[in-house]
Amino acid sequence: MNPLLEIFSQGEELVTGQIVDTNAAWLSQQAVACGFTVTRHTAVGDKLSELVALLVDIAQRADCCICTGGLGPTSDDLTALAVAEAFDRPLTFDAKAYEQIAHFFANRHRDMPESNRKQAMLPQGAKRLDNHWGTAPGFSIKHGRCWFVFLPGVPMEMKHLFQEQVLPSWPQRYSLQPRLLITFKTFGVGESALQELINGIEIPSLVDVGFRAGTDDVHIKLLFPSDYPKQKMRALIADFSAQLGEFVFAIDGLGEETGDLVFEINKQMAARNRTLAVIETISHGLLAAKCITCDWLLSANYQQSSIKSDAGIDVMAVAEAMAYEHKKNSAADYVLVQLYTGDKDCLHNKEKSIVTYIVLLTDTGLHKINHSIAGSIQHKQNQAALWSLDLLRRYLSFTL
Ligand code: ATP
Ligand code: MG
Repeated sequence: MNPLLEIFSQGEELVTGQIVDTNAAWLSQQAVACGFTVTRHTAVGDKLSELVALLVDIAQRADCCICTGGLGPTSDDLTALAVAEAFDRPLTFDAKAYEQIAHFFANRHRDMPESNRKQAMLPQGAKRLDNHWGTAPGFSIKHGRCWFVFLPGVPMEMKHLFQEQVLPSWPQRYSLQPRLLITFKTFGVGESALQELINGIEIPSLVDVGFRAGTDDVHIKLLFPSDYPKQKMRALIADFSAQLGEFVFAIDGLGEETGDLVFEINKQMAARNRTLAVIETISHGLLAAKCITCDWLLSANYQQSSIKSDAGIDVMAVAEAMAYEHKKNSAADYVLVQLYTGDKDCLHNKEKSIVTYIVLLTDTGLHKINHSIAGSIQHKQNQAALWSLDLLRRYLSFTL
């Protein structure tokens, strides 16, 4: 049986709904991938008695608990005190932690407020987890069957500490059988259409299938038991790849690092050593913004679309002519032009749709698509940027 893990998030901001508990979601993903069964997420406000009661309960029912938040210097940061009370481990001064906190301030030429001394008080017997990214050290402590880890609430600090100090120690503490997760990242097709595409595939009962629809893409996940035969796994992945076809822009879990659409385009543009110039209309600069780290994007011009309706106008032909014209004055290897039809009402009314016409001029000629987009104006903007990038991705992936 997999060891049981609970996640415990501390902070009044969480229970009052001012922030969303992204720490718990991220930590759960790590724990599940490593082979834990995650049994509960609990969020508790800044109330000492509730924190103490929860810690006592968790010590009886879980093998591991990761707690985030409440390690700061202010009076509402109560985690260390709650641990001291729950497990009868009085707070003791940790000179090394104090030195690190003092160093953090000295490095930034700031005076250390006296309240930060509180962060150097750790429950007796706790192991300090050094934090090089903020002031509060984390700590861990074993009580009963449960190994507790306390990490700062700030997501960036929490992730660093987890990756450096928690993840590497799990295999020594627990007998874990990590399941293998394969994720097909797709663009251009909805969840239900994806479901239909894979309906014909016989999926063994040992393999879990899940869908996750995000704003920019839809993922299909396959979760295999650790001892699942490799050959059968490869065959199932091949079946999925064949059925999902060009909608898949990356497959995660096969050893190679994957990312979003732009990340995948980035790899291919670098490999081909090509550059791009863009004229965007409906996406209003968002296409360029999505490519903020990409030096292959030589230029991106925003233009207002003057085409309100396609009556009598061959919009695609207009886009093609613009692409050829732009190519004459651009040093870029490829030119992408995006136009759309639809008046102001179509743009602002989320029930109405616009049609975007996208042309990509490359070494091997013209590639084009048109696509109708409904929804809020931000959704139209985002989808137009993504459909434009996806045309480039398809060209790079499927044209020699
Ligand atoms: P600090 O030293 O910054 O006070 P801390 O360990 O006490 O660290 P908190 O005060 O609980 O952490 O949270 C600091 C900030 O981190 C919060 O304002 C919030 O922005 C973010 N944060 C805390 N917990 C979470 C969470 N579970 N999910 C996402 N963000 C969180
Ligand atoms: Mg705090």
